[in-house]
Amino acid sequence: RRSAVPAMPTLLRNLTTAATQSACESDEPSFLKSVEDYFDTAANASGIKAGTLSHLRAVDAVLRVTFPIELSNGKTEVIEGYRAQHSRHRLPVKGGIRYSEEVDLQEVEALASLMTYKCAVVDVPFGGAKGGIKIDPRKYTVEELERITRRFTMELCQKKFISPGGDVPAPDVGTGPREMSWIMDTYRQFNSSDVNAAACVTGKPLSQGGVRGRTEATGLGVYYGVREFLSYPEVQKKTGLSGKISDATVIVQGFGNVGYYSAKFFANDGAKVIGIGERDCSIYDPKGLDIEALHKYYQEKGTFRGFSETAEYLDGSAAILEKDCDVLIPAALERQIGKVNVDRIKAKVIGEGANGPVTPAAHKTLEARGQVVLPDLLMNAGGVTVSYFEWLKNLSHVRFGRMNKKWDESMRLKLFSLVEENAGRTLTEAERKAIVHGAEEADLVYSGLEDTMIQACEETRQTAAQKNVDFRTAAYLNAIQKIAAVYEGSGMLF
Ligand code: GLU
Repeated sequence: RRSAVPAMPTLLRNLTTAATQSACESDEPSFLKSVEDYFDTAANASGIKAGTLSHLRAVDAVLRVTFPIELSNGKTEVIEGYRAQHSRHRLPVKGGIRYSEEVDLQEVEALASLMTYKCAVVDVPFGGAKGGIKIDPRKYTVEELERITRRFTMELCQKKFISPGGDVPAPDVGTGPREMSWIMDTYRQFNSSDVNAAACVTGKPLSQGGVRGRTEATGLGVYYGVREFLSYPEVQKKTGLSGKISDATVIVQGFGNVGYYSAKFFANDGAKVIGIGERDCSIYDPKGLDIEALHKYYQEKGTFRGFSETAEYLDGSAAILEKDCDVLIPAALERQIGKVNVDRIKAKVIGEGANGPVTPAAHKTLEARGQVVLPDLLMNAGGVTVSYFEWLKNLSHVRFGRMNKKWDESMRLKLFSLVEENAGRTLTEAERKAIVHGAEEADLVYSGLEDTMIQACEETRQTAAQKNVDFRTAAYLNAIQKIAAVYEGSGMLF
């Protein structure tokens, strides 16, 4: 199959993950067990009835499918795919589909549970789900990937694991707008009379009903979240940090969608990004990295090596986690900080961009040492928050931003002259209209996401103070309370 690598390596490379190996000892719990442990810690402090809690904790439904795919070389391969729906207390259930060789039922169940809690933390009215296909997308041609995606979607349609009001997938590790477009198109073919078909999946390209800001949403949310916590006096006291992003040094593990945009937004706000980790190698430069230039270089070369003469290059993406910095953003995969390396982690704040990057044992050690862990269910909730905006846009059938009165005449003119200056020519009326629509939508999405993160961080902070627990337990506690209120409000008795 290796000979079938397509002629678009940079695009595919961008979709891959930065880390493959975990940093766990053999006695550390699986990812699913870790999520359950975190849940249990918060559940014990919640005062909610045991029956409600055990209903809430369990995965509602799972789908496992295998299907044959014809490869470009004429051979057939059997592919394995999963979708888990963790909690249907609110519909649709929501969560990405990942393409990775690590995918299995347990991982998908763990990720689906996290989606439930994540949505509740940011008050996005969805249940939680997650899907996955057990493939390394780098090993397939674009045509093969399209066949795999469409065939998996057929399975989801047939088994009723996809629909605008029931279960709405999104991008995750190894997938992006292109895959979401294939999913929507396949769903449409099976549901030609569904007027809401565009809302069956989020993270679509703009031309296919996507929303501005979705691509960078998770990274932007990570940045907003860290910015909020750094501004809290109790965090400043614990870490000795000034509270200003522009005073902070930042290291990011992962330079895919979440990692790249996190690094970009930190750098835009004046932070010094001193290290980035990727699968084959990491780059470290205490003088600070030019993120845009590095991204361009990485897109072209597929590696950081050779980017600059002054930088240090480290093999793999694990060693960069151990460098001294103020803020560390693990934005690759789960189980990256565990018993094996936790004693060497020096960052004062760890903001979980990925799902499940810190094991329960490592979390405990970090907290005991006064390092602050900002939990995944809150930190990376920006993606699903903007997915919610996209879904609303699709269901409303109205252009987003239509009611936005902020873009008055003087702002419009300012924007046009900026774009005209850049383009070196005058814009047509149609172009002007499109620019205003885009700006209105982006403005709504960014400010909606920012408000959402500010509110969720504040709620987490307050619960942490009231209950005297860490931020992870506080975020779980808030999520559990909100979900339990839905169950109890529905009259279900346990
Ligand atoms: N895959 C993303 C996550 O883990 C986004 C899910 C969504 O937008 O539904 O949060």
